[in-house]
Amino acid sequence: MSLVVINEIEKLRNVIKDYKKQGKSIALVPTMGCLHEGHKSLMIKAHSIADITVASVFVNPIQFCPGEDYDRYPRTLDSDKIVAESAGVDIIFAPSVNEMYPNLQKFSDLTMVAPPYELTDIMCGKSRVGHFDGVETVVTKLFNIVQPDYACFGMKDIQQLFLIKKMVKDLNFPIEIIPCPLVREESGLALSSRNKYLSEEQKKAALSLSKALFAIRDLSNAGIKETKKLFDTGLTNLDKNVELEYLEFVDFDTFKQVNEVSQKTICALAARVGNVRLIDNIVLEV
Ligand code: AMP
Repeated sequence: MSLVVINEIEKLRNVIKDYKKQGKSIALVPTMGCLHEGHKSLMIKAHSIADITVASVFVNPIQFCPGEDYDRYPRTLDSDKIVAESAGVDIIFAPSVNEMYPNLQKFSDLTMVAPPYELTDIMCGKSRVGHFDGVETVVTKLFNIVQPDYACFGMKDIQQLFLIKKMVKDLNFPIEIIPCPLVREESGLALSSRNKYLSEEQKKAALSLSKALFAIRDLSNAGIKETKKLFDTGLTNLDKNVELEYLEFVDFDTFKQVNEVSQKTICALAARVGNVRLIDNIVLEV
């Protein structure tokens, strides 16, 4: 089957209804477009587990905070189609803002889905206040529109993955969340649509984020489990042009901070290089 692009909710619903009637399973990959190999790996996974793969391409205005890069976020639907098709995607759902939020001018009138405060007052949620409300709201809408059996999310956005898994459990969505590994450039830099903003000079500085995480992992593997010491090692590996926002050690299943590395500890960071905000993380094993 070749790729189709659908812009309207009603049209997508009808197509999905037909597939469901035929007993076909559906996997959804939500994205904001500007697709790269990281997104593609999610699509390949989705294609391998379900009969029909739907990828959404939607730059969701309500997950951007004031002053963030919503207006300049890269919109590249033509090249996105090529990436999606090569990954076996059947349908790209690319709605307009008006299609998703017909009354966005009256933002306060929108019903929102919000994760618990204590899980968003840390890491990315702390600096991006309201971000995860916007994410959970759009993902809920996409779940209701597409009604997938599976939804694939990348471990690149580790706090998002954790909160979506919790939302699905708490709100009884009949959807299996499939976590997909973080994909990096050969240099180590985590793939991100925002890497496009980086100059050559900034890219060099950005490389120190993964370098810091790898140094932490190496030290942890060498037997140093105290996160305070690992934190210090991370700091010493960061380029002077990196402005660190956070470097945290949390448990993968609870997202509570840990003082000692144990089974499935996540070491996650966010930082600015110039005005580009980047995130990265690594799983530490005992
Ligand atoms: P985005 O378009 O940035 O909203 O990302 C859409 C999905 O792709 C999310 O589930 C991300 O976690 C995932 N993703 C983005 N970059 C990567 C990457 N480098 N490796 C794996 N998954 C990724």
